[in-house]
Amino acid sequence: MRPRALSALALGLVLLVTGCGDPGKSPEKAAAPPSASASPSPAPVTKPSPTHTPAKPKLRPLPKKLPAGLHRASGSKGVALTFDDGPDPRYTPQILAQLRTAGVKATFCVVGKQAKRYPELVARIAREGHQLCNHSWHHDVNLGRRSPAEIRSDLERTNQAIHAAAPKAPITWFRQPGGRWTAEEVTIAGQMGLRPLHWSVDPQDWDHPPAKTIIKRVTGATRHGSVVLMHDAGGDRAQTMAACRHLIPDIKRRYGIALPR
Ligand SMILES: [Zn+2]
Repeated sequence: MRPRALSALALGLVLLVTGCGDPGKSPEKAAAPPSASASPSPAPVTKPSPTHTPAKPKLRPLPKKLPAGLHRASGSKGVALTFDDGPDPRYTPQILAQLRTAGVKATFCVVGKQAKRYPELVARIAREGHQLCNHSWHHDVNLGRRSPAEIRSDLERTNQAIHAAAPKAPITWFRQPGGRWTAEEVTIAGQMGLRPLHWSVDPQDWDHPPAKTIIKRVTGATRHGSVVLMHDAGGDRAQTMAACRHLIPDIKRRYGIALPR
């Protein structure tokens, strides 16, 4: 494979496995129709199959702006901390320990596959008083563009994995991977009792900036009632862990930390 093809493949994989946002895009822009910078499909690179591969099902277009009804504020003066893409055996326990030390609660937007693989971590999140948020079965950034039946079954499967681990834990929220919401999935999530949780502060920690950059971005953008998006899984999160050691006590002191409501 040519180096260029390899790097394209690597980029494709990175984009697939990490991140709630698109590279270099603000949350608002993340909801814009996909452009050349949207995640490239690695399929043609990995397997330039000579045989005909069946066409992918048509995706509905993304709306030009985020649909109505998304929660982008905590609903109180306190700041809501949200951690996405886990649970992860390396990082989720670190964040849980930090939250416990600070005496605060956060929201974990878990991926169904991860919840199935690490049920003890899901149970621990719930047991320690944190909130659970459905973040789709396998972090499908195009989930909102699929058919209503596909959206519903993805969310149900993820809920089942969470409830298999933590039977009594309420699943309060749904967060669309990449923030690529559609009105249809907001409606479907609502029918399932899941409220759509967006964010207002995105330090893009999935892109592995140094801890001091994550701290600067979060500190600069956070206000009373902010919802901060960070990641406790999906790649090397050492910088996020380091940033949180400063951010969690600092945000608590300045604004208070609250669960979104
Ligand atoms: Zn995510």
